[in-house]
Amino acid sequence: MKLLEYEAKKIFGSYGIPVPRGVLIHSPEDLESGVAESLGDGVVLKAQVDVGGRGKAGGILMADQGSLAGTARDLFGREIKGIPVREVLVEERISIEHEYYVSIAIDRSSRKALILFADSGGVEIESVARENPDALRKASVPVILHDVPAFMLRELRGDAPKEVEKVINRLYRAFCEKDALLAEINPLVSTPSGIVAADAKLIVDDNALKRQGIEQNRDLSERERVAEEHGFSYVELDGEIGVIGNGAGLTMATLDLIEFYHGKAANFLDVGGGADQERVRHAVSLVAGVSSVRVIIVNLLGGITRCDDVARGIVEAGVHQQIIVRLAGTNEDLGKEILAGKGYRMMDSMEDAVRAAVEESR
Ligand code: GDP
Ligand code: MN
Repeated sequence: MKLLEYEAKKIFGSYGIPVPRGVLIHSPEDLESGVAESLGDGVVLKAQVDVGGRGKAGGILMADQGSLAGTARDLFGREIKGIPVREVLVEERISIEHEYYVSIAIDRSSRKALILFADSGGVEIESVARENPDALRKASVPVILHDVPAFMLRELRGDAPKEVEKVINRLYRAFCEKDALLAEINPLVSTPSGIVAADAKLIVDDNALKRQGIEQNRDLSERERVAEEHGFSYVELDGEIGVIGNGAGLTMATLDLIEFYHGKAANFLDVGGGADQERVRHAVSLVAGVSSVRVIIVNLLGGITRCDDVARGIVEAGVHQQIIVRLAGTNEDLGKEILAGKGYRMMDSMEDAVRAAVEESR
């Protein structure tokens, strides 16, 4: 789950990384109590929306105490890349001498934390890598280490102020302890009074939300949340064929076949092991609730799961889309009997079922 800038800054700050003083407001009226007065005359208003490049998209405005209220009304009236502004971080304006970039991400292939540091920050790191590769330095740290080795910190920093090393190491600790997939400061800036994190980004591994005390994954759609409640592995895609399978392998194989026959899947839904009638009913209803879904393929192997249970679940869901069913295994005949004569299309092979679904989706 992606944290917003103000949340990430609170965390980075608690690890000793200098962040600008600031207050979070939920409406322009929040300013009436004078909460932002102690920030000094020059302030920056930053829309707390989860989009990249807020600055360019008009999500960051400069103001002074005199123009603050009006600027806040302006910002709360905006949409940044289609997202309405509901929270604004008002910060002291810092005087920037130089912008750097630092990020730490999981590198899955080496199973290490990959630290990137660039002498030119404030812009997208991809463009630095392309246009100014010499400004970008990397280090890989085995995450069993509590600290980034000193020689790596030195190499990453290059000619940047010595203080940067401390910031990188503190960011690394936050990254590890917060179960992050990405921790980023862009830009990390030098000011007359030292190094400051002007922006902050932190993505927490969804599998670690409980451990991190995060109750609800805000990044999930309503449907993904329902799926999570039922214990389904569910991912929304943008095609027309609803997919329900049991087991991640079989469900992935179904998606691959759909792709192979030039169809487009609307989702991935693995009902999990031992799916009963209720779970199948919920799965079918969930997938059928997506307006773009024209046809649903149910590809289930009976083991502990009984095909007659599956069949009853499908019938009970009573959805309007065509359902193509491929059932094999325990109580297969019973299942087929239940579905027979009710308008479902039954296929013995996965290939036939997928081909039929792709045709139906056209
Ligand atoms: P992003 O566009 O979402 O990445 O938002 P950032 O927080 O990174 O801000 C974008 C740019 O605004 C930064 O690269 C800075 O150049 C500028 N900026 C942000 N805060 C301040 C500030 O306090 N003082 C000054 N002078 N510039 C700022
Ligand atoms: Mn930024």
